[in-house]
Amino acid sequence: MSFNESQWQKSLAAAITSPDELAERFGTEPEPLRAVANRYPLRITPHYLSLIRIPGDPIWRQCVPDPVELEDDQSEDPLCEESLSPVPGLIHRYPDRVVWLVANECAVYCRFCMRKRRVGCGRTDATSRDAALNYLAGTPAIRDIILSGGDPLLLPDEELADLLGRLRAIPHVEIIRIGTRVPVTLPERITPALCQVLKRFHPLYINTHFNHPAEINPESAAACARLADAGIQLGNQTVLLRGVNDDPGVMRSLMTGLLKIRIRPYYIHQMDLVRGTGHFRTTVDCGIEIMASLRGHLSGLATPYYVIDLPGGKGKVPVLPEYVRRQNGKLLLRSYLGEVVEYSDPAIVE
Ligand code: SF4
Repeated sequence: MSFNESQWQKSLAAAITSPDELAERFGTEPEPLRAVANRYPLRITPHYLSLIRIPGDPIWRQCVPDPVELEDDQSEDPLCEESLSPVPGLIHRYPDRVVWLVANECAVYCRFCMRKRRVGCGRTDATSRDAALNYLAGTPAIRDIILSGGDPLLLPDEELADLLGRLRAIPHVEIIRIGTRVPVTLPERITPALCQVLKRFHPLYINTHFNHPAEINPESAAACARLADAGIQLGNQTVLLRGVNDDPGVMRSLMTGLLKIRIRPYYIHQMDLVRGTGHFRTTVDCGIEIMASLRGHLSGLATPYYVIDLPGGKGKVPVLPEYVRRQNGKLLLRSYLGEVVEYSDPAIVE
């Protein structure tokens, strides 16, 4: 892969952005997709496009518009991010940490995105960035900042360095995290120069967003290796998606594959109730079944938390298969193989 600094911009410029280009490539019918792409933008990078084997496969489902996106009437913002924003683009839900939406662009516009209401809709302006920094500097309880968007790693290196430098200048900011799907969708963006910028601002954590084993390939693995070699801790957030990864075997392969490329699986998210994404939702029982197939069968390192982000901005709740039961004063624990074992708990010994 070329490390030419402008290579990733060229790749972005070469991305597919219209149903007609898709039709040319796959022989599909563009007309039904036009209204969808007008409402929710379409962009697929050459790398991500190359991962599609056949129309309708798990990669296709994640990036190609579907007319059903226009059919559901769920909320645009079920997690109430807008009302939890003291200044535009800064979500302050928990006391000690904030999510800061520093970019609105993404390399690929994921069809299941929980921020469909705002991604692909213009750049964040400098005024709201100053307002966010003033809020952060004036709120000493905040010690952990998650840069999100959009994709923060689509910002130019200099802009990112300036932003990170201004955050590091705030004494109470201890941890900076970046959420990005670029290692998956535009791995050439992870240049040595970018890694040099990022490593100046430790402790820095990156959460990647891999959803399917096919997204783990030599290009994405090399991008993650460059980040890991820069001393950056890598975690991964996966969204549980119908027709993409709602299968224990697929999830097992994804989680073990992530560990092999030096990424620690962190969360599996239940799909949020976001308008335009209902066709991706699975039942919660599906998620519990997947967790039961991971826990104990794989190393604990490869086992993420399965979480539901509560509507109304009430925060994340971990969901587990039932391992603990109390019955007639006894504590009963279920092993990963389903065996029920009585455990002596000092709190309930008579
Ligand atoms: S990369 Fe993230 S923010 Fe961007 S479209 Fe995909 S899920 Fe949404």
